[in-house]
This record gives sequence, C-alpha cells and structure tokens, in this order.
Amino acid sequence: MLLAALVIVSCTPAIKVDEEVSINRSNADKYWEQYNLEFSNDTLLLIKRNAALVSDFTVKNFTVAANLFTSGEAEGSFAFHTGPSGDASVKGYSVMINNSDYRSGSAQKTGSLSRIRNNFIRIVPDGAWFAVRVEVKSNNIKVFVNEKLISEYVEPANPLRINGLENMRLSEGYLHIIKTSENGIIKIADLRITSHGNDIPPVDDSFLNDSTGEMLSLLNQQGFPVIDFHGHLKGGLTVEQVREHGRLNGYNFGLAPNCGLNFPVTNDSSLTAYYNEMAAEPVFKAMQCEGREWITLFSPEAISRYDYIFTDAMTWTDHRGRRMRLWIPEETFVDNEQQFMDMLVARIVAILSQEPVDIHVNPTFLPDRIAGKYDLLWTEERMDKVIKALVENDVALEINSRFRIPSLAFIKRAKEAGVKFTLGTNNGGSDDLGRLDYSLKIVKDAGITPEDMFLPRPSGDKKVMKTGLPSKITG
Ligand SMILES: [Zn+2]
Repeated sequence: MLLAALVIVSCTPAIKVDEEVSINRSNADKYWEQYNLEFSNDTLLLIKRNAALVSDFTVKNFTVAANLFTSGEAEGSFAFHTGPSGDASVKGYSVMINNSDYRSGSAQKTGSLSRIRNNFIRIVPDGAWFAVRVEVKSNNIKVFVNEKLISEYVEPANPLRINGLENMRLSEGYLHIIKTSENGIIKIADLRITSHGNDIPPVDDSFLNDSTGEMLSLLNQQGFPVIDFHGHLKGGLTVEQVREHGRLNGYNFGLAPNCGLNFPVTNDSSLTAYYNEMAAEPVFKAMQCEGREWITLFSPEAISRYDYIFTDAMTWTDHRGRRMRLWIPEETFVDNEQQFMDMLVARIVAILSQEPVDIHVNPTFLPDRIAGKYDLLWTEERMDKVIKALVENDVALEINSRFRIPSLAFIKRAKEAGVKFTLGTNNGGSDDLGRLDYSLKIVKDAGITPEDMFLPRPSGDKKVMKTGLPSKITG
C-alpha cells in the first residue's frame, strides 16, 4: 500500500506556475496516461472510439491551448477538474469538440461548455484546423475558438445544479481529452498547458442571481437549445455586444439583416456581402425576409448560404389593394374585424405554404386597434388553420418576447400538433435585447422540451434549394 502510494507521488509531474509546457511525442508519456493514442510526427491522433489522454498531474487555475482538426462525424471533449478517471460526469466540467453540420451528431458544437453554457453554433467545419483555448481563473471559465470567446461562465458561490450534475464544480483536478464517436479523427497539435497558481481572486457573480438567471441556468443543464433566433444589429449594436449579452445570460444568438423592398438588403450582392461580413462571427446567420416582394429580389443560391430564413405576416395587401404594414397605424385598415382576421389567416397560410421560410416570426401579431381582442379574434378555427400550415410546410413557430405572442393557448395547440418552436426577441434597437422573458415563461407553462425545438437545416438540405421561390408574390 505504502509502496503504491509512493510510486503515484513520484510519477506525478509538477507543472510549474506560469511556465508553459508543450506536449509532443517525446514528452507525452511524462504528463499523460494514454489510451489508444496514436501519433503522426508531433501531432496527436485520436482515431478509435474512447481514445483518450488523462493528465498525470492536477491543476486549479490554468490555460490549455491547442490546434485541433476534426474529420467527418468526429466528436469528443476536453474535460477539466476531473477525478483521476477523467470522467467529467463524475466531477468537473467539459468542453465539446464537434464540428458536424446541424441536425447531425450532438446539437452542441465546438466550444460548448457542456450543460452550463451550451454552444449550438457551428463555428468551424470538419476538415479544417482551428485553435481552441480554455482558461480557468478562480470562478471564471472562458472557452475561445479561433480567438473568439464562445463560452464564458462565472460559477456562483452556491451554484444551482440539477440531479446528476451536483459535482459539476470548479475545484482542482485532472485534464482529460477523449474522442467519443465511432467515426472520424481528432488531431491535436501544439498542445500547451500553463498553470496559473492558486491565488486568483474571484469575479463578481451577482448579475445572475434572479429567477430568469436561474431558469436559463437550468435549461442549459437540461441541454435545452436556448437560442434567441431573432436578433438585429440595430441602434448601433455590435456583434460583440450582442454576443456578450448572450454569453453572460447563457444563450446563443441568431442575427438577421432586414431583406426586402426599401430595406438595407435588397439584392444578391448586398445579401452576400452581409453574410461574408458575419461569416467568422459566432452567431447564427439569419435572413429576415420582408414584405411579400422579397421572393423577387434574391436568388435561391444566395439565400441558401444563410443558416435559416424567416418572415412574418405583418406586411401584405388587402382585398382593396392597400399595402399594409400592421405595426404602423396609418398604414393599417380594419374596415371589419372578422373580415380582417379572415384575410390575415389566408395571408399567413399563403406565406407558409409558398414562401420557403424556416421560421414564422412575430406570429399572430394584431394591429394596435384590435390587439386588445386577441383571444376573441384568434378563434380555435383560425388557430388551427395556421397550425396546419405550419405542420404541413415544416415551418417553426417563434415564441416572441417583444410582442409577447402567440398566446399560451395557441402554443399549447401548436405543440399538440407537433409544431417546432424557436425563441425570439426581434429587438428594435440597442437597449431592448431583453432576456427572452416571455419566451421562457411559455416554455415553462406549455411544458416545451428540447425535442420540441427547431435547429437549422444542414447545408445540403435548405428548403429554398428544394422548392425554389414562388413565381408570384403571395399577397
Ligand atoms: Zn425582425
């Protein structure tokens, strides 16, 4: 017993504080237990399922950086503060390695601080090298991919944890890199580790201590895709400001330009320019299709580069030829409430069945003058017509926090019918990003689960490439 203990102690290499240790073929044995690890020169190869490295040393505050490469369907994780087995489900945190396209493999993509600050955005594709850096300093965890901060977490003094995740806590522990998938390869080059010693003061965590913060934390732990699919860079907002808001609160963003007649993006060249500007940003790239004329302005190829596209039914032409924008009182005509509602429902159904959109946003919106009669005017028959069109055309339904629509009754009927949902804000400026409050309340009250949620279609499966665009505008 004593001998065994001595052997373990003498084998444990010390990582000196503030001294970067580079791992290569010649010194890997000194620092790591290896399981089916292979090499190509100094590049580490994880090929077999469960091929892994577990450190022989422990660290508290540290930076680990490496260049990684994944080939198709490879998935793995980097765990830290684990026990000697390296299993993060027993103790510690893990960061996801997964660059598969949407709707395949794990929904969490590279850079996700799993079950704490989930990242659903694919930042790099398979088949490309990328840089990952994980920093742990006191109660603060940061995960960078290609120098962009993807996940950030400040562990509160008494973190809330669901059953099974009680030991997902910062402490001191081992490092663990594992490939969890059968297929694909993970390559690791230029792996570097720096210990920062034990004396780093904690970061203030007070901004998370409220009920919305708690709900966001619990949804992350359940693997729920907490994504605001409907953000805009309005009022001078920058991508980094939006991202910071999402990181601190624990959700991802999709950002969209407004694309249509009399909007900033009106043709393929401005649509492609916007995409290229956003390409490296860790947000979903979305397109908001405006008015009904958008189908005449863009090509399917330019549209299909976007992760998803969405539209609302707030702009259409009535039976007397008046082009209405329902949020502008002077441009909205309600001669007869019932007739107006029937027209609105018919327009929504036409849009959903003819325009190749992924999400119907600002759904069930009514102009100010009749909004007070929402529950009366949105009869079961009208709800069911919209719900049927959503299901038949595989269009997801936004639960909109800005306008607080649709109603709980509508959502419950839609869920029952198998509609997929998204959460969305549709901020009008720089100070109304909010925190998805209405959307989260509905998720809770309607019992919406991760399986009920929409995720973008993979690149080869875009609706617009399958159906093309309608030959004439839908109304
Ligand atoms: Zn919008």
